[in-house]
Amino acid sequence: MNNASSPAFEFPFLEECFSFRDTVGQKIIESSRTDDRDAFYVCDLGDVLKKHLRWMSALPQVSPFYAVKCNDSRAVVTTLASLGTGFDCASKTELELVLSLGVDPSRIIYANPCKQISHIKYASAHGVQMMTFDSEEELIKVARCHDKARLVLRIATDDSKAVCRLSVKFGSPLKACRGLLERAKELGLNVIGVSFHVGSGCTDPKAYMQAIADAHCVFKIGDELGCNMDLLDIGGGFPGSDDAETKFDEMMDVINSAVHKYFPADSGVKIIAEPGRFYVASAFTLVVNIIAKKVIMGKDSSSDEEDEGAKEKNNGRTMMYYVNDGLYGSFFCSALECSTYLPTLYKKPKPDEIMYPCSIWGPTCDGLDRIVEQCYLPDMQVGDWLVFENMGAYTVAASSTFNGFKRPDLHYVISRPAWQHMQQIGLQGMPA
Ligand SMILES: *Cc1c(COP(=O)(O)O)cnc(C)c1O
Repeated sequence: MNNASSPAFEFPFLEECFSFRDTVGQKIIESSRTDDRDAFYVCDLGDVLKKHLRWMSALPQVSPFYAVKCNDSRAVVTTLASLGTGFDCASKTELELVLSLGVDPSRIIYANPCKQISHIKYASAHGVQMMTFDSEEELIKVARCHDKARLVLRIATDDSKAVCRLSVKFGSPLKACRGLLERAKELGLNVIGVSFHVGSGCTDPKAYMQAIADAHCVFKIGDELGCNMDLLDIGGGFPGSDDAETKFDEMMDVINSAVHKYFPADSGVKIIAEPGRFYVASAFTLVVNIIAKKVIMGKDSSSDEEDEGAKEKNNGRTMMYYVNDGLYGSFFCSALECSTYLPTLYKKPKPDEIMYPCSIWGPTCDGLDRIVEQCYLPDMQVGDWLVFENMGAYTVAASSTFNGFKRPDLHYVISRPAWQHMQQIGLQGMPA
């Protein structure tokens, strides 16, 4: 565990009477003085702490293993490590990152059911034992490369109502589970439990109820085969901000009652989850600068047909804004239809200000690089800033430098009370 009096990374404290919004404003002022006006992030690590406290009060019986792929920035992972969460890693590089922070390998689950052999060997050499599988081939690889593996069978779920579906790629159908458990036994492998993922951005809390019921069936098969399973992993899929369609509390109610029904405290089953989006989405705010602008007048000008309706509403004036981060950068997930984005303005518009329909585009030369198909903004100028909130999940972690546009800088802040609170939790550690 990190010594709480010597933080592993440095960041400025939010001073009293100086809110997160003030920090964003200050960065905008600083940046506006430079010629570059590059896009940047501000991250409130106190928000990550707030999420952790919310998790621990809503689902105290479920230990969170943060899904590193969602946002692998070192400050976030360090913060969570000092709060005592576990980690879900999907590759050797993610394992290296988490282990390099001094996290005990028992607090890591290697939750990728389809692993490269050299990465399994790395896990074995570094004491990471918990790992998921969903096929016979994976069992054979693990049997060859890892003699202490503690395996978790990933089952498929009904993720038809999730924003990003995962069960098309991962998870064994229920009817194949008996065969897999039998094969694991033949190979002398230790299967300790069952996992699932209802899909990222899950919009149907009932998906957890069904998946937990299915997991219970697999436990029963395991019992018949003498597997002694005692771990249930309910995966990710939890909303990252309160404007998500499905509310966190609603989901927690369903999960609590499903757990109570199928895996009550006296069942002796330990329950973990792999939240990603939940922990980081709302902590990050992205600020981009308008680098170019086009005003489209009337219907006879050459623009997208899609904007015709908007032009009628607004006497035919439509704006196209080009900003310095886009689809190949922080907005990669919009390409995968994970999210829709809407900007806010740092300077609130006057009540009588005329709003124009506009589209917002990224900086690359690709015609697909559009962030917002249509929204309404006042007349903005080149050099003005647009703010995107809730930008912590699958943004920094998924971005590329295509076309030579660099990734935005990250600035971290935390309030002094949040920092002190974190030190206390870090010192107490978390119940195993
Ligand atoms: C991506 C992923 C997660 C995190 O999902 P969220 O929806 O961001 O909570 C958890 N577990 C696994 C196996 C994943 O692939």
